[in-house]
Amino acid sequence: MLPDLNRFSNEPEFQKALKEMFSSLDKSVLSNKVYNDNDIFNKIIEPDHVYTFDVKWVDDHGNEHVNKGYRIQFNNVNGVYKGGLRFHPSVNISILKFLAFEQIFKNYLTTLPMGGAKGGSDFDPKGKSDAEVIRFCQAFMKCLYPHIGVDLDVPAGDIGVGAREIRAMYLAYKEYSGKSDCSLTGKPIDLGGSLCRTEATGFGVTYFANQALQTYKNTSLKGKTVVVSGSGNVALYCLKKVTELGGKVVAMNDSSNAIYNPDGIEFNTLREIKEVKRGRIKEYKDVYPNTEVLNSKDIWGIKCDVAFPCATQFELDENDAKKLINNGVIGVFEGANMPCTLEAAELFIKNKIIYSPGKASNAGGVAVSGLEIEQNKKGEKWSFDDVDHRLQGIMSNIFNNIYKTAKDLGDEYNLVKGANNYAFIGIADKMINR
Ligand code: NDP
Repeated sequence: MLPDLNRFSNEPEFQKALKEMFSSLDKSVLSNKVYNDNDIFNKIIEPDHVYTFDVKWVDDHGNEHVNKGYRIQFNNVNGVYKGGLRFHPSVNISILKFLAFEQIFKNYLTTLPMGGAKGGSDFDPKGKSDAEVIRFCQAFMKCLYPHIGVDLDVPAGDIGVGAREIRAMYLAYKEYSGKSDCSLTGKPIDLGGSLCRTEATGFGVTYFANQALQTYKNTSLKGKTVVVSGSGNVALYCLKKVTELGGKVVAMNDSSNAIYNPDGIEFNTLREIKEVKRGRIKEYKDVYPNTEVLNSKDIWGIKCDVAFPCATQFELDENDAKKLINNGVIGVFEGANMPCTLEAAELFIKNKIIYSPGKASNAGGVAVSGLEIEQNKKGEKWSFDDVDHRLQGIMSNIFNNIYKTAKDLGDEYNLVKGANNYAFIGIADKMINR
């Protein structure tokens, strides 16, 4: 029997993720007798463990603060629990359940042995000193370390958790647990991190897009006008790879503003502003005065051939989708997790715009995290080119598998259907076998 999704009305993000999944499953899956006899549809939506804890930390003035911390271990049928940690004021159980649920299927698509998890805190690193962020990370890990480990659960970064935070948390993990296993990925290189992990999600979504453009339209990113939302880890390395492949990224944004420059946005300048100085995107105009500074949401009104939503969930709604379609977009590739609302996604599919769900096209990050675990276990360090080459192979494989599934289901332009049916069957069969 299918689950009653109304009971998740107080967890709207999680409810949306479930609706997206169940509305896209083929009749043959929904009526599968073995799945129904084993109650798979109800079992698959229940997390294995939900840990919540109070994280107490002290600011630079000696005042103590408390934030909520979480780790959701959703499903480990495909391998160790794996998924990022997010530090952002919006973090709550609903958002983390949605992300952890998505992660189960994303990780299956990579073909690497990883289950689904997610965690984080409502702590806001913005405006905090390095010392405050590091003290928070140590306090967070003091609560989390008993629940993770290389054969159990291996977290990574996500929004608000980059190299600085992973370094602090990994060092704290070693101190509290007395172990030095690969309990976190996305580590700095000197602590056992993998080359190309920083670039992996942004590069991966770009490789995916290039192959999709080739398959559907016999074209590529070369010469295309591109819009990339966000300016964090995923967006920056998407900008870099699109530019390397001959596309021109004319607009990007952060939570305050969008910038538009018809000559194309220059990677090193933007990286210096956002990744190194942790500044605001509008500062780009100080270096390139011909840049137009707009409201953040205006980004979707800018004419482009290809769009990469790479900022956050539900940033692109039905109205934004209409603007993109009216302006002649041919492909929309999600670098973020569920950045398009269900209505926007439906509109793209209906209009035969190539549209890829994040669980497929942003899987490059977790894939290279999987490769980081493998390198750590074997005591090896692979070259940048080696990891990049493997990443390209994984992204190509993901595209081929979900494209073939969509085509076999008679809905060639529906990569949501392709990804969800392919991955759901894979996970459900493993649950049955277990
Ligand atoms: P970062 O924290 O590095 O960057 C997030 C970016 O999005 C920032 O530029 C931020 O702006 C911007 N942003 C946040 N909210 C909004 C908004 N409402 N409108 C416009 N811009 C906004 O995160 P990541 O790049 O790591 O992650 C981005 C997305 O990709 C998330 O959905 C994440 O879950 C997903 N993802 C990340 C992976 C990774 O490897 N990092 C892997 C797979 C998915 P500001 O600077 O103002 O905060």
